[in-house]
Amino acid sequence: MKKIQLICTKCNKKFSVDKAYYRCDVCNEPLELEEIKTGEIKDDNVLNQTIMKRYSDFFPFLDVNDEISLGEGFTPLVSSKELAQAFGVESLYFKNESQNPTWSFKDRGTIVGIQHALKLGYKRIGTVSTGNMAPSVAAYGSKAHLETFIFVSKNIAPEKLNPIAIYHPNLIKVDGDYGKLYFESLKIGKANDIYFINSDAPFRVEGSKTIAFEICEQLNFHMPDYVVVPTSAGGNIRGIEKGFREFRNCGLLDRIPKIICAQASGCSPIYNAYKDQGQIISRAENPSTIAHAIENPFPPSGNQTLRMIKENEGICVAVSDEEIVESQGILARIGIFGQPASAVPLAAVKKLKEENCLKGHEKIVCVVTGSGLKYTAAFEKHDLKALECKINELSSFIENKF
Ligand SMILES: *Cc1c(COP(=O)(O)O)cnc(C)c1O
Ligand SMILES: [Zn+2]
Repeated sequence: MKKIQLICTKCNKKFSVDKAYYRCDVCNEPLELEEIKTGEIKDDNVLNQTIMKRYSDFFPFLDVNDEISLGEGFTPLVSSKELAQAFGVESLYFKNESQNPTWSFKDRGTIVGIQHALKLGYKRIGTVSTGNMAPSVAAYGSKAHLETFIFVSKNIAPEKLNPIAIYHPNLIKVDGDYGKLYFESLKIGKANDIYFINSDAPFRVEGSKTIAFEICEQLNFHMPDYVVVPTSAGGNIRGIEKGFREFRNCGLLDRIPKIICAQASGCSPIYNAYKDQGQIISRAENPSTIAHAIENPFPPSGNQTLRMIKENEGICVAVSDEEIVESQGILARIGIFGQPASAVPLAAVKKLKEENCLKGHEKIVCVVTGSGLKYTAAFEKHDLKALECKINELSSFIENKF
């Protein structure tokens, strides 16, 4: 490991990277790796390079193990002039994270977490998740031949359970408060030598920096004004913002985009605190939204996300399920099928424009965090139909109908 430390995001207490530390023992806030101050992009053959190699200066490892890669990252940044015009902004881009090995951005953090676990000599890894973190850690655990523990909540739908089970981890349905499970897992990890890669684990957050790095490169360093991130635990949004900051430190950018934290109004603890100008989040009561991937009522990085948004001069916004479903449909019309949580940024752009928070000259990137096929129950919310006819009538059917 390079000479670098973990720092508490609140009180700045330092911790070694040579052990699996996650949260500060003084204030219980998340830890974060020190900011990188010097580094460059390692330009090479992108057809076989990994994100960990290309951006190795921005990770604390002296060498990386490419054998555990599944080809994560390097996802498309899709431009839509049509939607920019329809929504009344200068330009709109979609960072399509559904094109990752397990169909969400989570793979970026998983690979970094596992690199760290291997460096520390762990043979066991784990995560707590009912969403995309679970299949991601299970898949990478398989590839790396690590014993993998996945804790899910008891009432998880079979639709979500089997895509985890297929990788054959030790999959455990836990009966009880899901919020407590995060903290419980850290204790269990310590006692049983399991490296937990949870939603806002410091090295998982590091993986999300590569979303920012790729956006910079894909836009030839002509920076967007805003990057909109659907937010639950707060790990991804923190990583993306940190990535931009580190590229600026290294002289690759002169300006960091403003970050928009987009939540579902059925579960918006970060937005609620932001709206009330609070410093700390409160637990969202009776969370309910179609955007299950961002339904964390008490996000472990909620307070840090609030601090980050303030520093960054960003915005928090919450959108309704109706707006989310509408945006999921609009995205599909430009060929991108994201899960409901991933449609939240577009709904946020629409809302902010309508509320005049956006003026119309902005260049905006929406992060489409995961695939629509992750949650097929959302099909019901759309008016989907197919026509039907006999083969010998097909020719006249087409002529008459279209
Ligand atoms: C995990 C996830 C999020 C939220 O990311 P956090 O780091 O928990 O804030 C958003 N969208 C999708 C599809 C996810 O899987
Ligand atoms: Zn602290």
